[in-house]
Amino acid sequence: MNNPLNILMEEAIQLINRNKNIFISSHVQPDGDSVGSILALAMAVKALDRNKNVRIVKVDDIPSDLLFLPNIEMIKEQDLNQPVDLFISLDSSDMDRLGIGKEFALKAKKIINIDHHVTNDNFGDINIISSSSGATGEIVFDLIKKMGVEIDKEIATCLYTAISMDTGSFMYSNTTYKTHLIAAELLKTGIDINDININIYQSRSIERTNLFIDSLNKLETFLDNKIGIVTVTQEMLKVHNAKMEDTEGIISFVRGIKPIEVACLLKEVDEKEVKVSLRSKKEVDVSKISSKFNGGGHIRAAGCTIYENIAVAKEMILKEILSNFR
Ligand code: AMP
Ligand code: MN
Ligand code: MN
Repeated sequence: MNNPLNILMEEAIQLINRNKNIFISSHVQPDGDSVGSILALAMAVKALDRNKNVRIVKVDDIPSDLLFLPNIEMIKEQDLNQPVDLFISLDSSDMDRLGIGKEFALKAKKIINIDHHVTNDNFGDINIISSSSGATGEIVFDLIKKMGVEIDKEIATCLYTAISMDTGSFMYSNTTYKTHLIAAELLKTGIDINDININIYQSRSIERTNLFIDSLNKLETFLDNKIGIVTVTQEMLKVHNAKMEDTEGIISFVRGIKPIEVACLLKEVDEKEVKVSLRSKKEVDVSKISSKFNGGGHIRAAGCTIYENIAVAKEMILKEILSNFR
């Protein structure tokens, strides 16, 4: 098949073949899709040519539930004072989302941008953007196959984690028949999905559990319970000895409440910065809402940062959510 994505993948592989010093990076506040994708691609490029200098740039702390992934130690802080030929961005909709990775991207001779966000701004020299893919891990799967590299258990574990976590265990509306076909091929390699699932879904710490209970106790709803808002403050993290990554799972629980159409989680970074997560069930396009605040994402999952205190941020986002209901 010679669809545009196939051609772009061929061009990307030529660039990978031609360059020696290859740097790979995900977005800040990395999730399963981004961490799984960078590890899988790094392993595949290394398998393609052992002499290549393949490095993964650590742009942020890795959530503890992903530390079980094979070769996780490849993700580390990298020295900017070394030659960067090719930069590959995975799962990031724009350069600013790369954090320190952006510095490596700017230094590189060429950039390959691989992503599935509708809001991707095509910042690469080659842009492999497939918004119909449930996860960046699905695109990476196709690319690795095209490279002619065998998908072994280690690569498959990373890609399965990426795809499972971005599709809500194959439940969200971004899950397609292709998602399942890829998952089936990954299972064929003999990966232990029980072990993967325990690591990513059944290893919640007591601290995370207490934060979950406390935040849901403070759930506020609006518009006949169609909108649910939960706030996590620095004070709450302190009380429960939790980290911001421990908010994982709160927003999908809120969306799971029957009348809720839009779920919103406000995470207080500091007095003047709030990270906003948005999820919807079937009517509202939350990427439109996040775009109003220079954020991005997908129709049913999006995010942005509001540089105000939490009370003001809540008012601003609620007003914008309300205006998206007919
Ligand atoms: P989150 O709520 O952080 O899990 O993010 C939901 C989706 O929106 C993910 O696909 C993110 O990559 C995307 N997203 C979150 N925050 C931003 C942002 N500030 N800019 C662009 N995209 C974002
Ligand atoms: Mn992501
Ligand atoms: Mn993703």
